[in-house]
Amino acid sequence: MASRLRPADLVLLGGSVMTMDAARPSAQAVAIGGGRILAIGDDRSILELEGPRTRRIELAGRTLLPGFIDAHCHPVHAGIDLGQCDLHEVPTSPGAYVEAVRGYAAAHPDLEWVLGAGWAMAAFPGGTPSREDLDAAVPDRPAILYNRDGHGAWVNSVALERAQITRETSDPPDGRIERAADGSPQGTLHEGAMYGVGRLVPEPSTDQVADGLVVAQAYLHRLGITGWQDAITRPKDLEAYRRFAGSGRLTARVVAAQWWDRDGDTAQIEGFIDERARSSMGRLKATSVKIMLDGVIENFTASVLEPYLDARGESTGKRGIDFVDPEALKGFVSRLDAEGFQVHMHALGDRAVRQGLDAIEAARRANGMTDTRPHLAHLQIVDPADWPRFRALGAGANIQPLWACHDEQMDDLTIPFLAPERTQLQYPFRSLAAAGARLVGGSDWMVSTPNVLQQVEVAVRRVDPGHRERAPFLPGESLGLEVALRAYTMGSAWANHADGATGSIEVGKLADVVVLDRDLERTPLDRIGDVQALLTLVEGEVVFEDPGLTAATN
Ligand SMILES: [Zn+2]
Repeated sequence: MASRLRPADLVLLGGSVMTMDAARPSAQAVAIGGGRILAIGDDRSILELEGPRTRRIELAGRTLLPGFIDAHCHPVHAGIDLGQCDLHEVPTSPGAYVEAVRGYAAAHPDLEWVLGAGWAMAAFPGGTPSREDLDAAVPDRPAILYNRDGHGAWVNSVALERAQITRETSDPPDGRIERAADGSPQGTLHEGAMYGVGRLVPEPSTDQVADGLVVAQAYLHRLGITGWQDAITRPKDLEAYRRFAGSGRLTARVVAAQWWDRDGDTAQIEGFIDERARSSMGRLKATSVKIMLDGVIENFTASVLEPYLDARGESTGKRGIDFVDPEALKGFVSRLDAEGFQVHMHALGDRAVRQGLDAIEAARRANGMTDTRPHLAHLQIVDPADWPRFRALGAGANIQPLWACHDEQMDDLTIPFLAPERTQLQYPFRSLAAAGARLVGGSDWMVSTPNVLQQVEVAVRRVDPGHRERAPFLPGESLGLEVALRAYTMGSAWANHADGATGSIEVGKLADVVVLDRDLERTPLDRIGDVQALLTLVEGEVVFEDPGLTAATN
């Protein structure tokens, strides 16, 4: 552009800019104006764009990156959870929990139910809190609070009465009612027994979901996230998104993946088309469809090519579950692709991955190489024969690196049930990248933290940031720092069809930007997860700013 540039609204000087643009990977300073990147260069050249009203931020060597994009998360659910009584951060003791619930209930007198989650079993004898404890905090309304792993719930007496759970109630086949000595319900419900109460909880209203999205968005902006793909949206969720976007509160760039009912067929596509048309507003699009192909390894529902082992290491003969018939899947994906939908598939086991790729191949054969950018998420086990197919088919590899490490889930619930040679095939990020697959980064929040830098630390080290002393898990599959960051910027921008406008720091692109609290490239790899965002911009507007950004430098 030869025309004279207008003065910048904002200049950021003296930083370490990682652009994610191969043509110009690094710079010192950036100028922003009219919501876009005006210029990239050294401090001297950028200062020339400073006018009387320009805000100047001294980066003091800190890293500036394109805003992060989370290509697989669940802000609708997270927003609802965050608005409830959250016990995750409360000290692990019965007294502290009761106090926290009492405080929450007092602050929300209008709520018909007191809902929450996050207590630790370790706080209570036998892991089973009593209804009397909860009655002390909430005597007047039903209350149900799930534990950290979601497999147990703590309920009060009113909730048990409402659900008509009494001494006479027998345990459901898939759960257990914890009982006092006299046989009456004690206050903890395990597994399927939770639904006796859970089914009575009213569905959140559209306004409640929209308000939850405000909370979820603020949470993500604080982590430097400027866009995402919501991996499960049903019509009522889209209605909430529209209310949110229509009221001008949506600052993130969002692609909503519409939920494919796996008991249904192509008849549901008409509905998707309507929702897509209705839900294109501002930064919101509903152009993706999420199909869940299988479950998870830990309960043997992931669809795998070789049978799971039993506790003695013998074959069980079981290969998991195909949630969608693989032949029918080919037809579904081809139809969706022909209608211009992206298909976002949950594919965790190697058989599910293969079926997903087969379906994309069928779509490519039927429709040619459309620009729908299908992607497969989770990719826990991928057969080497399928690694090159991602590139060949133009399919994205949507990875959740946080899971690629030794932890209880991996060591106790996964490795013993896979043959040793199959354990080696887990989360093959480097192999996929080497085979030309486009890596796309996602968190699966609230299943896991949406903190991108924690995920990147695992991607580069294959060690749990909460246990940095542990041995790396298949370190040969670790990614370089740049490659990992690319997945969460350009990679995810690609998946959201937003790479033309965002995902890198390039002149003319929208100024979706994050500033970190230090120089990332000089940070030891085992400290990457400690790095925090100080400033998040969407189209040049501040959507999060930590006071520490200017306190130290200006
Ligand atoms: Zn998910």
